[in-house]
Order: sequence, then C-alpha cells, then structure tokens
Amino acid sequence: MENGLLPRMYQYSRAIYRSIKDLIDPWADQETQLEYRRAVLAACEDTVERLAKDPRYFSKPERTLFQDIRRYFPITYQGQVNWAITEGIGAAVEFIEEQIESGAFDGGVARCRATTRKGKPCQRTPLPEREYCPSHQHLETVAA
Ligand SMILES: [Zn+2]
Repeated sequence: MENGLLPRMYQYSRAIYRSIKDLIDPWADQETQLEYRRAVLAACEDTVERLAKDPRYFSKPERTLFQDIRRYFPITYQGQVNWAITEGIGAAVEFIEEQIESGAFDGGVARCRATTRKGKPCQRTPLPEREYCPSHQHLETVAA
C-alpha cells in the first residue's frame, strides 16, 4: 500500500501472533505445530490487510479471525486466544480510525473533503496537493 499504512498494520498482526503462538496445540508433533504457526500468522496478516483495505466494510474482524484459527488451539486455550485477538484487533481498529479521523487515510485513497448536495461525502480524488476535487475547488478558495 502506497501510503505506508500496511507496514504499521503488520505490527498489529505480529503482536497478535506473538501473544497466541505458544498456545498452539502443544500435543501436535513438531512439523504440524510449524504448519499451524504458519497458518495462524497468515490468518492474522490476512485480517489486518483486509482491515487496512476496507476498514468500514469489515465488520467484526476479531470474530472472523477467531473463527479462522480457533481449530489450531486446544479448547482450554480458546478463551485466552479469543481475548488476545479481541485486544489486538481492537488496537488495530483504533489506529485505523485515528488515521481516518485525521484525514490521512480513507481506504488507502485521499478523498475530496466536500459534502455533496445529497449530504454524502464527495468520493472524488482531490487535486494534487489540495483537499478538494475539481468540482469543489471553490470551497478551498473560500476557506483560505
Ligand atoms: Zn468534491
């Protein structure tokens, strides 16, 4: 992702992975454990990637991730895994929301700051170095 958000998102997936990797089925043989760890890490990364691309349309990412990987953990650890995922994804969502609020990020693409006549945010790309698109550039002149 060109805006540099994704590398920061991977910090969250790695943090989740680190907090749960030692809970992976301890009775599986070494090779299986390795395979499980890879699958768990990949699922964590998939989730934050999807979150970075579609923060507004990915509802309950923590539940999706837990459903994807719970089978790699003994039933007795699943509560702990679920908690770690909820905490980790919660932190990632908070980070993305801050980015959206500050206007630094909106699905990876900058958007015009104007509101359309229908009351919806304008979806057009702003002019280079500007906050408004060509149809709304007069707003910028007024504000300045
Ligand atoms: Zn516009």
